[in-house]
Amino acid sequence: MKELHLTIHNATGLHARPAKVFVNTAKQFKADIRVQHGDKRANGKSLISVLTLGVERGQQISLFIEGEDEDEAAAALAAIVAAGLGEGAAEPMPAAVAAPAAAPVTTPTAAPGMAPAAAPANVMRGVPAAPGIAIGPLFRLRNTAEVPTGLLSAVVGTDAEEAQRLQTAIAQAKDQLVALRRQLVQRGAVAEAAIFDVHLEILEDEDLLSAVGDRIRRGEAAAHAWQSVITERARAVAALDDPLLAGRAADLHDVGYRVLQLLVGVGESGLRLPDHPVILVAQDLTPSETANLDPNRVLGFCTAAGGPTAHAAIIARALSLPAVVSMGAGVLDLADGTLAVLDGQNGVLVVAPDAVTLTQAQQRRERWLAARLASEQTATEPAITTDGVRIEVVANIGGVAEAERAVQAGAEGVGLLRTEFLFLDRSDPPDEEEQFRVYRDIVQAMQGRPVIVRTLDIGGDKPLPYIRVPAEANPFLGERGIRLCLARPDLLRQQVRAILRASTYGPLRIMFPMVADWNEWQRARQMVLETARELGVPPVPLGIMVEVPAAALLADVFAREVDFFSVGTNDLTQYTLAVDRQHPSLAGMSDGLHPSVLRLIAHTIEAAHAAGKWVGICGELAADPQAIPILVGLGADELSVGVPAIPTVKAQVRTFSRAEAEQRARQALRCATAAEVRALVPVA
Ligand code: PEP
Ligand code: MG
Repeated sequence: MKELHLTIHNATGLHARPAKVFVNTAKQFKADIRVQHGDKRANGKSLISVLTLGVERGQQISLFIEGEDEDEAAAALAAIVAAGLGEGAAEPMPAAVAAPAAAPVTTPTAAPGMAPAAAPANVMRGVPAAPGIAIGPLFRLRNTAEVPTGLLSAVVGTDAEEAQRLQTAIAQAKDQLVALRRQLVQRGAVAEAAIFDVHLEILEDEDLLSAVGDRIRRGEAAAHAWQSVITERARAVAALDDPLLAGRAADLHDVGYRVLQLLVGVGESGLRLPDHPVILVAQDLTPSETANLDPNRVLGFCTAAGGPTAHAAIIARALSLPAVVSMGAGVLDLADGTLAVLDGQNGVLVVAPDAVTLTQAQQRRERWLAARLASEQTATEPAITTDGVRIEVVANIGGVAEAERAVQAGAEGVGLLRTEFLFLDRSDPPDEEEQFRVYRDIVQAMQGRPVIVRTLDIGGDKPLPYIRVPAEANPFLGERGIRLCLARPDLLRQQVRAILRASTYGPLRIMFPMVADWNEWQRARQMVLETARELGVPPVPLGIMVEVPAAALLADVFAREVDFFSVGTNDLTQYTLAVDRQHPSLAGMSDGLHPSVLRLIAHTIEAAHAAGKWVGICGELAADPQAIPILVGLGADELSVGVPAIPTVKAQVRTFSRAEAEQRARQALRCATAAEVRALVPVA
């Protein structure tokens, strides 16, 4: 047996990413690898187990390695820890730097920029996630604790049979996860689909599976054994009191419940809803739950946690379900059956409304439904402001099926084809021929309408098994988007060839994601021009996404050469406000209507127009009813939105004049906060 003592120098300790590198290295060896930290022990090949050690920067771990390849394993693990576990060799922490002094505890009074006015006691506020008004009884989502104990502990067979039942349930769960992942990718929710990779990884966690196996051998029912181990591990992860790891605890619960349902014979939806429509209340909705919501039974939902760009919110918008997130734990105390009004646009829940509020809410719901219906009926007509300015309304899509739906919904083209969908869910990249066929089919499905193809936007946080990217401490600031493609020119060249070949079937444009530097644009553009020459086809219009403040600030320089700009407000907001777009507790800060983001958009549009170039907006902001008049007022030429939003966005553009919108936009640029900007555009 080999014994080693190593110090972890990574800035965040043995946190998610370094821990994953450690575990993946350990898994390459046959030897048994145990890790000890203080009095806690972990299986070195289990990510969950290693995470729960809670090793911080500067702390020591001991490794006990036993097996035929123990020497090689010890050498490899010592080397990878010394090399910084994929984050580069970090400086050891100076001995004099003790634990940081406890920071003064401050109690936030309100989410920044939200400053709610004093509200009556029956009015609860959260972050708006999907517009619309729902009126109905509340119903709290049942969770695992409510699986009847009898069902959990009923032993159905012998140990071997119970173990077999568990294996079958896990295999079925894996099939479901792969299918769900595909569904989300097809809807264009590529980043959300990657969540299910984590779930699949959990279902293969050696330590977790062996702990469940031990319990079954001791005579426990498979369901009980499974549930106990999941709860135990989730609790240990949550106890580390780290907001990023809290997400892992939610993943454990989600995937744990999926297997449990299969074991105790509950159907996949798992949401045992009453037979009348309800407003769903939940701590958070998992990706699986949201993907399975039945719009006939759920009028809308509100969650204690979550953010407006989280999976639940994106799917709610796709299903036209009003939703409010990040409401705080108080919402979970409301009794089932209580009548409530949920206002998804303003992020408000009114509990037990009085007669006047109820009547007003009913009128607003009717207006909302009527407007939706009317917008669907006029969806194929152009979106022209009352003073005659035409705004192109186009679609964000992820595949051929969505292109067909986009045409039916009235899209005037595709403003963003996220090509990542073609590259996920597989072990090899699609070759040129396969890519060509998909791009050609999409161009043909759009029947002459222009299609903007975005080159591959993949990065450290959306890894592909066949593209090796070293683990990064800050993947959003790392090798992603155009940076990654330029580092692997063969991949980009092959994609460009496929796109250019498809361009002979209809109007096609190319844009590059995450451009921050003039040289990136030059190299990417050069590659397209060279490839077009090789293929003997005319080059297509070329544009860049404005997602990084650097690109917005240099828009006048880029405007000399690009044919168009497309503002990706999701990333532009993240990089301008320095708020991770998936951060679990900073959702309230991440608002694309922040005046700083608007000033960058204004600068981009001004610079583009001065050079005779056009600008589209393709982030989530383009579908936000409060943002639409401001974006049009800033001069946006095109709004590119998810397919379900196309009719309502067009309808809204027809309700105001560009002159009024310009005045609003000027006021917005002078505001101090996103809340002030929102106050300029009251919602119906
Ligand atoms: C954006 O960042 O706004 C965008 C449209 O790109 P994605 O959401 O795919 O990163
Ligand atoms: Mg982006």
